Amino acid sequence: MGERSRQLFEEAARYFPGGVNSPVRAFRAVGGEPFFVARAFGSRITDVDGRTYIDYVASWGPMILGHAHPRVVAAIQKAAEAGTSYGAPTEMETRLARLVQAAFPSLERMRFVSSGTEACMSALRVARGFTGRNGIVKFEGGYHGHVDSLLVKAGSGALTFGVPDSLGVPADLARHTLTLPYNDLEAVRGLFAARASEIAAVIVEPVAGNMGVVPPRPGFLEGLREVTRRHGALLILDEVITGFRVARGGAQELFGVVPDLTCLGKIVGGGLPVGVYGGRAEIMEKVAPLGSIYQAGTLSGNPLAMAPGAETLTLLQAPAVYADLEAKGEQIERGLAEAAAACRLPAQVNRVGSMLTAFFTAGPVHDYATVSRADAGLYGSFFRAMLDRAVSLAPSQFEAAFVSLAHTAQDLEETIAAAREALAVAAASR
Ligand SMILES: *Cc1c(COP(=O)(O)O)cnc(C)c1O
Repeated sequence: MGERSRQLFEEAARYFPGGVNSPVRAFRAVGGEPFFVARAFGSRITDVDGRTYIDYVASWGPMILGHAHPRVVAAIQKAAEAGTSYGAPTEMETRLARLVQAAFPSLERMRFVSSGTEACMSALRVARGFTGRNGIVKFEGGYHGHVDSLLVKAGSGALTFGVPDSLGVPADLARHTLTLPYNDLEAVRGLFAARASEIAAVIVEPVAGNMGVVPPRPGFLEGLREVTRRHGALLILDEVITGFRVARGGAQELFGVVPDLTCLGKIVGGGLPVGVYGGRAEIMEKVAPLGSIYQAGTLSGNPLAMAPGAETLTLLQAPAVYADLEAKGEQIERGLAEAAAACRLPAQVNRVGSMLTAFFTAGPVHDYATVSRADAGLYGSFFRAMLDRAVSLAPSQFEAAFVSLAHTAQDLEETIAAAREALAVAAASR
């Protein structure tokens, strides 16, 4: 790392645990130390030592237009001049809601919150309040924010109660979370057959993104829809990554599955802190002040965050946006797969649209068990060799790379050329 980044990281460690405000930023999974960012524009991010990288982290998903899009920046400036928070309703909230609903008709009613975590936490409360049940089904490797009940991994068998993944999560709470393998519909059917009356909801990333990209098997999401409906449980699609990413209307548009509740975040705020939860009117009208499920927020619907969200969603309405993202994603996928094959490295590139992960493993990757076979050490070597070649990937094997509309044909070619060299370096280090 550059000298200035090193100094800043050392100082930051005196204030923040591990020197960061969110754990993966510390680069622990890949070795080395993070660069500190000075600025970013379009597809490029520049560190405090003056090095510029082609960026595929995209702030972990939000920056689908690229960084500092002039129209998004102008929207923020205009909003700031009118005051940054009022604690009272504004027209901009309705404008953003209209854009969200145009893409996601299943959000008949919605609430704006300030993060994806808050959206998922609130959706669970609504599901529990609406059904009068406590149990939540999630999938191994699925991440829904740092919500207490969702920081839970599988027990020893599919039907065991969850144990917390983090200290500080009461076992009393974790025992209401049931964890199953992703893409395993039979396990879901088995669980419902045994305990349907306890289950309020199934929450799922419709394309898993937080264990690396794992697409749903054909029929998986449709099966979840059918089983939950039959047993009076709600289906919650956590589209915090996939919303406005895999299609304008997210995975629910791409796969044609209509959930009861949806969580959004990341892109919907255009790079500012916004989360959304919403769904069927009958369910959402149980939320206060209409109903007795409580949820609130001082900065919810904050005008400074609504404006860039609305501008981003408006820009995403341009024709051919998603075809363009698909073509770019496909080019990177092919480039990585060919480069890995040329170095005789086992690699499995999973991709849906503009989100992808190259897993260093031979077999197909379809759930947490197969994800876990990937060689994270090899990824670390690849990651560092890419950084040396001015390409910034996610600092973990188990995350997605995001292609944006700002990535040019030349960016993609440079990335693939860098990957050929970096994979050769990584292969040699094995
Ligand atoms: C990022 C993410 C969250 C949490 O959102 P934050 O804004 O980080 O709180 C929830 N669910 C999924 C699928 C995510 O990728």
